[in-house]
Amino acid sequence: MFEPTAEESLIRDFVRQVARKCGRDYWLAKAREGAFTEELWQELAAGGYLGMMIPREYGGGGLGMQQMAALLEEMSRQGIPLLILVVSNVMDALLIARHGSPEMKERYLPPLARGQTKFCFALTEPTSGSNSFRITTLARRDGDTYLLRGQKMFITGVDVADYLLVVARTVPYDQVKDKREGLSLFIVDRRAAGVEAQAQDIRILLPEKQFALFFDDVRVPRQNLVGEEGKASRYLFDALNPERISAGAVAVGLGHLVLEKAVAYAKERVVFDRPIGGHQGLQHPLAIAKTNLELAALMTRYAAWLFDRDEDAAPSANMAKFAAAEAATEACDLAVEVHGGSGFTGDMDIITLWPLIRMLRTVPVSREMILNYIGEHVLGLPRSY
Ligand SMILES: Cc1cc2nc3c(=O)[nH]c(=O)nc-3n(C[C@H](O)[C@H](O)[C@H](O)COP(=O)(O)OP(=O)(O)OC[C@H]3O[C@@H](n4cnc5c(N)ncnc54)[C@H](O)[C@@H]3O)c2cc1C
Repeated sequence: MFEPTAEESLIRDFVRQVARKCGRDYWLAKAREGAFTEELWQELAAGGYLGMMIPREYGGGGLGMQQMAALLEEMSRQGIPLLILVVSNVMDALLIARHGSPEMKERYLPPLARGQTKFCFALTEPTSGSNSFRITTLARRDGDTYLLRGQKMFITGVDVADYLLVVARTVPYDQVKDKREGLSLFIVDRRAAGVEAQAQDIRILLPEKQFALFFDDVRVPRQNLVGEEGKASRYLFDALNPERISAGAVAVGLGHLVLEKAVAYAKERVVFDRPIGGHQGLQHPLAIAKTNLELAALMTRYAAWLFDRDEDAAPSANMAKFAAAEAATEACDLAVEVHGGSGFTGDMDIITLWPLIRMLRTVPVSREMILNYIGEHVLGLPRSY
């Protein structure tokens, strides 16, 4: 499992090739003008990479999390990460492929694999925050439809998406015996009457924006319910571990990107008659950053391997996300340090990466919630909250 497979090498070669056409400069220009990187998306589609985790019978590649993690890590290392790739073509594609009806899979998966449609994932709400069981968006049965009412926030890519995969309660929290019951998953047409989106002021340089969503009695056909009513919390675990592994892969890639810049600068910048990388005060932190990134990469790889074998990937997926986000954040801070004043210039393109890298400590799940999980479920300590 330590050797990169031939497939993974091909994936990395492909990404490097795409980055020659739609690379970091292209990505930055799109992010600055607030436009989506559609050309990059179409390159991924043409290479068959958008459908990588979609079963072959629905037009996908039938590959697993290990290959997807390689793609995400390499894209990040080339400075062209896409959050919506994780949401749409990892999490949502997996949820539909694993729990959707045959008609649903037939209808939604092939266009996703071809890059013709995109999905958002709408879970977070303003009042419930990390306590996702407490969401209040409600879907009430009304004949052959559901009426969806409530609010979401921080939802990535609403402006470019065709569909929203919405987590809602079909039974309010105070009416269930077990908090895990009564959650349901719906495919909602982005353009359905009653769906309103408001862009949020998020100061992260990204080609994808985040939105608050408002559902005002949105009519959702019954056939858009994914799986069984009230059982979504079970399904969500199928997507949350891949999401954490994906975040780990993105963090590892971005961490390497900034560390490589720091090392190159440390070799060439001469102060006090020697390259600054010759001072232990910088060399040792660089060595530690490299070590921590490699450790995080191994854990991310291990978590993806477990997931692909249908084994319990939750402990390692959480640890991978934690370790990778910490390692990348430390690497980015160090890269700024190594560059001195130049670290704050746009030309060096390090400070530009800081908000995105720092975000990975908090998103898609905060470091504290991960530590809570490890403390309680891996170490068997009393629940602390
Ligand atoms: C750029 C961006 C993109 C996003 N994209 C999406 C998306 O596409 N879809 C989606 O559904 N969501 C999305 N999110 C939301 C994201 O998943 C949440 O912001 C994240 O899970 C944290 O939740 P919160 O913001 O409500 O923080 P809160 O839950 O309010 O937490 C605030 C702080 O309190 C701490 N805290 C809370 N409870 C505990 C506890 N029990 N023990 C210790 N500490 C605790 C947290 O760790 C955190 O530090 C996105 C957010 C951002 C910023």
